[in-house]
Amino acid sequence: MKQSDKILILGSKGMVGSAIVRNLQSDNFSNLLTPGRSELDLLSQKETLEYFMANKPDHVVLAAAKVGGIVANNTYRADYLIENLSIQNNVFEACFKADVDKLLFLGSSCIYPKNSEQPIREESLLTGPLEPTNEPYAIAKIAGLKLAENYKRQYGKNYMSVMPTNLFGENDYFHPEKSHVIPGLIARMDDAIKKDQDEFSIWGSGNPKREFLYVDDMAQACVTVLKHEGDLPYFLNVGTGEDISIKEVAQIIAKEMGFKGKLVFDTSKPDGMMRKLLDVSKIKALGWSPKIGFQEGIKKSIEFYYSTDNLRR
Ligand code: GDP
Repeated sequence: MKQSDKILILGSKGMVGSAIVRNLQSDNFSNLLTPGRSELDLLSQKETLEYFMANKPDHVVLAAAKVGGIVANNTYRADYLIENLSIQNNVFEACFKADVDKLLFLGSSCIYPKNSEQPIREESLLTGPLEPTNEPYAIAKIAGLKLAENYKRQYGKNYMSVMPTNLFGENDYFHPEKSHVIPGLIARMDDAIKKDQDEFSIWGSGNPKREFLYVDDMAQACVTVLKHEGDLPYFLNVGTGEDISIKEVAQIIAKEMGFKGKLVFDTSKPDGMMRKLLDVSKIKALGWSPKIGFQEGIKKSIEFYYSTDNLRR
């Protein structure tokens, strides 16, 4: 891959896509295409194909997806399935027709069976039933990684996928109900502080454990994979290899934000998977490792939250 190559980043206004753009720019890749939704509607097959034919990117990063936290995934089940399938089908077809060289598809650690052995190795894929709360999203992501795998197997295409653990950081989506746990807790705790509440409710039992990766580390992993010239597995896990309970996450956020009240648990909300820690030995063997610690990442996220206006919340 040359620094002058034209790279199309889809989802460049979102948390992961924008971090990939920052990372590529700091690595002196300057020929970047970063269309927003108004310029390119990936739900339209026709528009997507026309954009690819007109712009002829050398490489593509597919970081555009409909994403959300556990309650959103469990509520808007059909929307998560059809929108993600449509986006990825349109993009894979367009990559093939426009003869794109490298395509990197971003999946998720929720593709793995609910009862996978921990830490979860790539080989666990399709060995058992999925966690029900985000099954539609997971099915779409499995279809995406299988598209990459099978374009490679049938046509020898340079398409591959990365499966990130739970991500957080700059440009996250801070919504009290619809977002993932870290931005959700930050948004809801800010509200509790403003209302001077003496109690704060954490969804679920607080016992599930999650592995969190700061988004700039994820972006670095994507660029490492894109730049890699040798053969690679069809997909690679990306994570820190360490996990933490949701209760501890809430305690750290409370401390950093200065919330002094009591933390209580709302067990009417789902726990989801009790644990989903990834085995990250394959991506680490490529020379990548995370740089931003959890506590540092939380501080950066809170700082980002307070630096943005209400539009992103
Ligand atoms: P998941 O990894 O797909 O389950 O995604 P989430 O980030 O949405 O949720 C992770 C865990 O955090 C689940 O056990 C949630 O029940 C728990 N949780 C606790 N409080 C919150 C909150 O305010 N928002 C979200 N999204 N999850 C929360």
